[in-house]
Amino acid sequence: MVADVKPKVVITTHHKPDADALGSSLGLYLFLNKMGVNAQVVTPTDYGDFLKWMPGENSVINFEEFEEKSAELVADADLVFCLDFNSLKRINKLGDLVRSSNAQKVMIDHHLEPEGFDDYRLWTTKASSTCELIFWFIETMHGVNLIDQEIASCLYAGIMTDTASFKHGSTSPTTHRVAAVLLEKGAKSNRIFESIYDNYSENRTRFIGFCLSEKLQILKEYKTALITVTAEELEKFKIITGDSEGLVNYGLSITDMQLSVLIIDRTVARKMSFRSKDKFPANEFARKNFNGGGHFNAAGGESSDPIELVEWKFKEALKEYKNLLN
Ligand code: 5GP
Ligand code: MN
Repeated sequence: MVADVKPKVVITTHHKPDADALGSSLGLYLFLNKMGVNAQVVTPTDYGDFLKWMPGENSVINFEEFEEKSAELVADADLVFCLDFNSLKRINKLGDLVRSSNAQKVMIDHHLEPEGFDDYRLWTTKASSTCELIFWFIETMHGVNLIDQEIASCLYAGIMTDTASFKHGSTSPTTHRVAAVLLEKGAKSNRIFESIYDNYSENRTRFIGFCLSEKLQILKEYKTALITVTAEELEKFKIITGDSEGLVNYGLSITDMQLSVLIIDRTVARKMSFRSKDKFPANEFARKNFNGGGHFNAAGGESSDPIELVEWKFKEALKEYKNLLN
């Protein structure tokens, strides 16, 4: 590379980034910075306050807030890294801009069924998280010596949350080895855990209590737990981005439940989360019925129908799966 010609790099990740999405983006951003490469993280939307402790977070540009600037950056980029998603529909309007940019697109992801918009990919569904893949990427670049406490903290956060604190089946020996290196590099596991999980607002805590006591339906014959939340309820509890994260998991912690579903009226659309155990293909169910996808046991989808109709359609669609759920 000619010394004064630096590549223009944009890093983006999915809509409403979670800790893996933002952690992988910032981990890569900080690493590239250390390599002398200037990169800019552009997120399609905002994200929860519980992620704002991440090093480098204050440099992130939110597309919804700075559309023109984001569009310019993507159009001018030589390289666009697409992290923790594999279908451009997951980044809303930003997707069209990435598609039409002349930049080379590098996808780093661990979800099923990539759409194929990318020029290069580091992709496997065997990785626990995109943060684990970023570690592999850094290792391949012989850059592990450049990992400092800041990079390590970002990557550790994504691994910790995507594995539900090293509990999910996706947690491999490699995941633990990577996590061990990140701890050696200075990531503080207890602090990261507290920043993410002991950092909820009072409103959010009361909202969870309300959903569990007033909104939870148990569909016994389908071994399914369902929570629907209306737009009015979101408003009543002053729910903001990130507050509903984790709510869907409670249903699956009830004895015998095979499937847990959350339907939330986000006003612009009804958003659904699916979590399953064992054989129920949450991603296939989401794709067939709610224009969604994801992992086998954790998926999401959406609908433009009113929330009552979405709930009804969900219950109808479930009938086909009665045997499988039993
Ligand atoms: P969550 O329920 O936490 O929003 O999402 C769970 C998983 O499903 C994530 O891995 C996410 O990538 C995927 N997912 C969520 N919503 C959608 C969607 O609308 N379309 C697709 N393809 N995947 C989704
Ligand atoms: Mn992920």
